[in-house]
Amino acid sequence: MPVCLIASERFAEHQTPPGHPERPERADVMDVMANRWRTRDAVVVAPPPATREALARVHDDDYVELIEQTAGRALQLDPDTYTSPESYEIARLAAGAAVAAVDRVMNGHTSTAMALVRPPGHHAERDRAMGFCLYNNVAVAAAHARANGAARVAIVDYDVHHGNGTQHIFDTDPSVLYVSTHQYPFYPGTGAASEIGHGEGRGFTVNVPLEAGAVDEDYQYVFERVVLPAVRQFEPDLLLVSAGFDAHERDPLGGMRVTTPAFAAMTKALRQVADECCRGRIACVLEGGYDLEALAASIDAAIEVLSGPAGEPRWPASGISSVRGRAAAEAATSALTSLWTFP
Ligand SMILES: [Zn+2]
Repeated sequence: MPVCLIASERFAEHQTPPGHPERPERADVMDVMANRWRTRDAVVVAPPPATREALARVHDDDYVELIEQTAGRALQLDPDTYTSPESYEIARLAAGAAVAAVDRVMNGHTSTAMALVRPPGHHAERDRAMGFCLYNNVAVAAAHARANGAARVAIVDYDVHHGNGTQHIFDTDPSVLYVSTHQYPFYPGTGAASEIGHGEGRGFTVNVPLEAGAVDEDYQYVFERVVLPAVRQFEPDLLLVSAGFDAHERDPLGGMRVTTPAFAAMTKALRQVADECCRGRIACVLEGGYDLEALAASIDAAIEVLSGPAGEPRWPASGISSVRGRAAAEAATSALTSLWTFP
């Protein structure tokens, strides 16, 4: 089955102030990738806007209304987050693209999908815009899957920043597993290994905080020791990926040294787990990635993995020690030993 890409030229219409890293040129990169893959194996579809019902599953009604009221207006919503007159409409398309990716894989049209969207989503809280994000696209998608028959949904977030919004939205919910690898300490400040969820959701948040400077070997280590074992034991019906590429070595915001082949390996490893757990159902939703060249290469590599055969990931080997990965895995697993089994 071909990979399905959910893409639209309209994502360039969400404008941010000059010099802002989350800029419309990112949408041009997404378009180039969608057009390239359209002529190869991919099915490319345009997103519908997310319905109010879909948004309200994870956002407060007041907040959905507040964003609605930004239509036609240029506003600053938090120190880093802005709207332009079109942003409300484009943000609804971004969340709608994530929902469409879920529908495609859950309805059996395809087993793999990627939503190429901006603005990103994982910092958006129930009641507040934050960190370039208006609606929490991946959370809207997860809640949509839950409302449409998925008993358990896993979200793996390899963006360099911690997805505070996603974590908080599902904090007490044992039906959604949230697993994040991220630079720590770093923006937004959350994501300590000790944050494991609350109440019934205790143990269903897995944070893998990596010190700045982490390399491919660190990511391989934490994927093999923490991320993949947790997802396997959770046995999701659907695997969602908050696919941010700002841990890339070229990225101007992140302080990590991840290469494009390592992003391919991460995606391939997740695809393999989806094959084992949930009939290969995996949907990636774009988050960050602020170097345009690295963003293009990383999106291309991820789509290639999603469109090609399943199989073993090929991790690049630079021979650098995985000392940061070992420390992060140790922290993450010691917070969760009574709840999950780690190798
Ligand atoms: Zn990020």
